Amino acid sequence: MVLLHYTRNETAPPTRHREMTESYCNVALPVPLRTTFTYAVPDAMRAQVQPGSRVLVPFRKKAMVGVVVELTDTAPEGAKIREVQKALDLIPALPPKLLELGQWVANYYLAPVGEVFRAMLPPATDVARKPQIVLTDAGRTLAEKLKAATTLTDLDGAETEFLGRLLEKKGELTFAPGGKLGITPEALQRMLRRGYLEIRETMQGRKRKMQNVVAWKGKDAEQLGKKEQRIHALLETERGPLPMPQLRKLAQVSRGLIDRMLRDGLLESWEEPIDPVEDPFDTGYTPPAHTLNETQESAFNAIRARFELGEFGVQLLHGVTGSGKTEVYLRSVQDTLARGKTAVILVPEIALTLWIGRQCRAWFGARFEGVAVLHSALSDVERAREWQRVRSGEARVVVGTRSAIFAPLENLGLVIVDEEQENSYKQEETPRYHGRDVAIVRAKLENALALLGSATPSLETYHNAVNGKYELLTMASRVENRNLAAVEIVDLRTDFQATQKANPISQTLHAGIAECLSFQTQALVLINRRGYSWSVLCRSCGASVQCVNCSISMTYHKSRNRLECHYCGSIQAVPKVCSKCESNYVYFFGEGSEHLEERLRKEFPGARIARLDRDTARTKRQYQETLGAFAGGALDILVGTQMLAKGHDFQRVTLVGVISADSSLSMPDFRAAERTFQLLTQVAGRAGRGELPGRVLIQTYYPEHYAVQDAVRQDYVSFYERELHFRRLMMYPPFTSLANVIVRHPNPENAIQWSRRLSEYFAPHDGKGLRILGPASAPLARLKMEHRYQFLLKSPKKSLLTKILSGALAFCEANEIPGTALLVDMDPLTLL
Ligand code: ADP
Ligand code: ZN
Ligand code: ZN
Repeated sequence: MVLLHYTRNETAPPTRHREMTESYCNVALPVPLRTTFTYAVPDAMRAQVQPGSRVLVPFRKKAMVGVVVELTDTAPEGAKIREVQKALDLIPALPPKLLELGQWVANYYLAPVGEVFRAMLPPATDVARKPQIVLTDAGRTLAEKLKAATTLTDLDGAETEFLGRLLEKKGELTFAPGGKLGITPEALQRMLRRGYLEIRETMQGRKRKMQNVVAWKGKDAEQLGKKEQRIHALLETERGPLPMPQLRKLAQVSRGLIDRMLRDGLLESWEEPIDPVEDPFDTGYTPPAHTLNETQESAFNAIRARFELGEFGVQLLHGVTGSGKTEVYLRSVQDTLARGKTAVILVPEIALTLWIGRQCRAWFGARFEGVAVLHSALSDVERAREWQRVRSGEARVVVGTRSAIFAPLENLGLVIVDEEQENSYKQEETPRYHGRDVAIVRAKLENALALLGSATPSLETYHNAVNGKYELLTMASRVENRNLAAVEIVDLRTDFQATQKANPISQTLHAGIAECLSFQTQALVLINRRGYSWSVLCRSCGASVQCVNCSISMTYHKSRNRLECHYCGSIQAVPKVCSKCESNYVYFFGEGSEHLEERLRKEFPGARIARLDRDTARTKRQYQETLGAFAGGALDILVGTQMLAKGHDFQRVTLVGVISADSSLSMPDFRAAERTFQLLTQVAGRAGRGELPGRVLIQTYYPEHYAVQDAVRQDYVSFYERELHFRRLMMYPPFTSLANVIVRHPNPENAIQWSRRLSEYFAPHDGKGLRILGPASAPLARLKMEHRYQFLLKSPKKSLLTKILSGALAFCEANEIPGTALLVDMDPLTLL
């Protein structure tokens, strides 16, 4: 592993005299500077200031939370050293491997290490929090035994003494930051692992709230009144056990009725804690118990064989949609746990953490113990709590989105990256890491196995598998020999010729949906833009309404009655007349999901329709409710953006419609074909997953394109070979590595001048093992009020790119080009 070379090391003004016995620590702070800072460690805090610990330190005029990178007994010459104000952790927040991983990320993605650590940890908003050390039952029993007589234990003297002290203090010890604990973090951790102690964090004094959950108990549902029938349907088929208020709301019944049904023995109820991480559809969920089929079995055996080796490895599980990959993942996790190790499962969408999390809890958790869920939609308190459960060793399986790769599990045995090709694994802000690639590095650091799963692997990954760098496991058929959905192309040119109308719902798609409705199966309709219309044009002069901050056209949102920029979020009133020529021939062009929903409602008035996109699903609960309603059969048609294309296992979907396959093909991006192929194949995978056969209709103006053709045949290998040929010709990944460098500033003069200056640094390197293109105006020439110029670096040698880019950052620093003006994106997914 390459460690970070700090460009410089700053120190802070003195607060007292230095003594010879004093020790120091280097602290990474979340500031955009590629350096650490040295602070003195007061004696009382020594035990709690360890590499990986969070500390509160003075920085400039404020206090900041940072992470200790290393301890040292020397401070920079002639420097003025300030003191650590508080130690915030009982045990270091980052275990050694994660500290190392963070440094790798900082180095590889050229990000300030303090910002990397900030991204790895739950927000340190709760500086005032008071962690408590609490005796567990096992700890109490042991402590009492030890008090009564000398007993043989696995504890040393200091540990025994500490247990005794805790017993005296009624089993609880509150840790005051900066205070002395009288025990080393290592010893503390040992006792935590053996289950004698627990760390409890009282989060803003909140107690766990309880709620009343109701379930169906009666036997037959006959001879029920209408309202009772509704309750029966909700509790037995649509949802499962529900909290009382939710049941009343959904069934529209009075508390009195439910009480009566409880008395009559038709219902039962119990008290349960309201856990914000908990999934309301969780209770009563039993996962289907499948015995693995032959294909799954052989994949699983190969995974187990890897475990036996006990060393780092990467496997690619290439399984068509519906081949039962989840089952293989779960068995692998089970096997990992049985070996005393821990596991992470990364999924590309928050919605999927709920689904996979639910299955994991059903498999591995008596209640919710053992499984933690981490994603960005959790509140700070929830996130901190889940994180703490992982750090203390209570949770041994983590399910989460990209940043969950930094979960502080120890003794990691397995990292699963589901749908490894998904763009959402890439973070598009500092640090710009790719969750899958970090997963592989983490697995390597921890001697663990990385298991990448996909029906449509990224070109890079499949290339590595073909090369033998990764082991390829293939599952080529669906479970139970179900057929892949039949995919048909709807040529929009012919549809238009026949109807003379540009309707986003072609005649064929309309007929298909009507058929679904008559058979009472479900349809999923996908469109890749949200909003009502994604362009507002003047018919008279041709001007389009652009964002004031970006070179992007504004999207019309009808229900909110305004225009929105999907890049910077700015809004404008809906124009009545053209702002350029004042004509009133303003028209809206290009359908979005809101428009499509409206049309479907018009064309299918009786159908139960819902829409799922970032406008309708702003919270986790909204996601769950819509997805739950669809999965439970309470909806006929679900309209949505690509968030619907991934992973979901809806059993009654027989038709999937794709409104336009072309919008992703026409993007100015070398990955356009790959994205289109992946999207179409994934979408096709949502149909016909249950016992009913599925049908997919793809509407397009370019039916000949190979991305569309190969998707129709669901032929990954054919697509891979054609696309690989193109990448080789064009010298794109996987044949070369890319880095995108953007110079940006609100003032165009600055952006131009700085990019010229930077090209002086780059010019002499061009042609020496790498190609440097630019500066050119970026495809998104203006974004969030900033003007943007672009360099593209290409080299078959990643280490060379890192070296040159690191030099570029130093050059900018030396030439007073502000760090914020430079955006460096290593292995970029888009070049916009
Ligand atoms: P994938 O992730 O590969 O698209 P899933 O893991 O979602 O597929 O599995 C598809 C469906 O097949 C699920 O409903 C799952 O419960 C079911 N399934 C998985 N394994 C088996 C099996 N061995 N026999 C029968 N059904 C199975
Ligand atoms: Zn005009
Ligand atoms: Zn904008």
